Amino acid sequence: MAKNFFKVACADCGNETTIYSRATTIVSCNVCGATLTKPSGGKADLVGCTVVEALE
Ligand SMILES: [Zn+2]
Repeated sequence: MAKNFFKVACADCGNETTIYSRATTIVSCNVCGATLTKPSGGKADLVGCTVVEALE
């Protein structure tokens, strides 16, 4: 079963945040404002971050 949440690190500033894998809105970095994910076909498409850890 797929994990529903990911801990990700912003590619620009390294700030870590937790995102929902099926986020339907654009998620921005809290620190620098970079776009981290955007919705794509019912799941979040990681565009400006790297996955640190998959959470439950
Ligand atoms: Zn950032």
